[in-house]
Amino acid sequence: MSTTMKQLARDYGVVGAGGAGFPTHVKLNAQVDTILINGAECEPLITVDQVLMRTYAPELMRILDQVRVECGAKEAALAIKAKHQEVLQVVEEASRAYPYIRVHPLEDKYPAGDEQVLVYEVTGRLIPSSGLPLDCGVVVLNVETLWNLGQAQQGVPVANKWVTIAGEVERPGTYKLPVGLSAQEAVALAGGVLDETVAILDGGPMMGKLKAPKDPITKTTKALLVLPRDNPVIENRITPLEAILRQAKSVCCQCSLCTDLCPRHLLGHDIEPNKTILAASYAWEVGAAAIPQAYLCSECGACDMYACTMGLSPRRVNQMLKGILAREKTPNPYKGKAVTVHEEREYRRIPTKRLVSRLGIGHYDSPDVSMQAQAAPQQLTLLLRQHVGAPSVPVVKAGDWVEAGQMVAEIPEGAMGSRIFTPLAGRVEAIHADSVTIQVGGTAQ
Ligand code: SF4
Ligand code: SF4
Repeated sequence: MSTTMKQLARDYGVVGAGGAGFPTHVKLNAQVDTILINGAECEPLITVDQVLMRTYAPELMRILDQVRVECGAKEAALAIKAKHQEVLQVVEEASRAYPYIRVHPLEDKYPAGDEQVLVYEVTGRLIPSSGLPLDCGVVVLNVETLWNLGQAQQGVPVANKWVTIAGEVERPGTYKLPVGLSAQEAVALAGGVLDETVAILDGGPMMGKLKAPKDPITKTTKALLVLPRDNPVIENRITPLEAILRQAKSVCCQCSLCTDLCPRHLLGHDIEPNKTILAASYAWEVGAAAIPQAYLCSECGACDMYACTMGLSPRRVNQMLKGILAREKTPNPYKGKAVTVHEEREYRRIPTKRLVSRLGIGHYDSPDVSMQAQAAPQQLTLLLRQHVGAPSVPVVKAGDWVEAGQMVAEIPEGAMGSRIFTPLAGRVEAIHADSVTIQVGGTAQ
């Protein structure tokens, strides 16, 4: 009997490549009626999915159909933006061999790739508040995750990552890079120089997080964007939270635009960022309890990067509140609540073109091409937590020789997690609390 996709995903360290890194073997441990592939790639400048779909469409369709059969699904759908005409044609052509796979073209709106939004757009079903696609019979996988399952079938673990490098670099595009490579070495491959005038984001301009030059690429790094420090995208990330709360108190005019355009609000969730930001700015000073509405925030950035004309950030406030709610173990009162779509949703969705011009990134090129570049790092830093769940446990020790593709950390007994593999051969330099470092090269003796 051939090994199941679920087992391959566990054995070869496959996790969601486009989000938080949910272990794929856990996701595939389900019987559903629809498998949905998220090829929306809704963050501006990122082209990983386009490159993979253009290059590997027949292979991706073959794997998708196997996943569909394994999960008992009667249908599989691949969602891609209609504006990517050429790639759309390539995947449509490849899908013809599979009667139970359909390609679903999406409008160019943000955030098309949010799971709640995507499931609604493609299936018409609504995921309950704080729920999962599984709650309405759907498993959602990222395009690269699917590709990684195909690699696993060939015995190749997840040790390299497709990453779009764009912004202030000479050769923007999508690169296949070793996990553990530092951001600054990756950016240098694309002809970028890091100095005090720029900052790096891990991810897209809307949801990406600041990354230090020495921070390593992980299994979930989808993009490295190098942007000037005075770009609004970076200013949004570096403004201190205290300043945001202070400003909210003095300048939030309660225009409600952040709520009117909030994609989760428009799907019918009980989230009203205009109220949260104001209440939080006052509560901050008196130490009042955090507002559980923050549980419903996807951190998509539509409120701060697009809606608010006063430069306020309900998203950052929600992030703060989520941290407090988690620490205080506050129950989520919205969990499982059914939602009803807002009647004006259709007219309030955000066109990506307008978003790009507001972000001040319209002049950056990001071609959907696979770039050839050989990384030659001296050291790799393999984080033990590159996924949702428990950190992996090292199975090597300092001084050990490791071959390329060898497992260096295992899923802890009885926990949810994912294995970690080294992309390059070398000697284990040290085992830290949160990582394993490898000195690349040399010989086994
Ligand atoms: S859009 Fe800005 S100013 Fe208007 S309510 Fe929201 S945070 Fe306040
Ligand atoms: S980041 Fe803002 S727009 Fe997005 S879900 Fe949260 S509150 Fe709504």
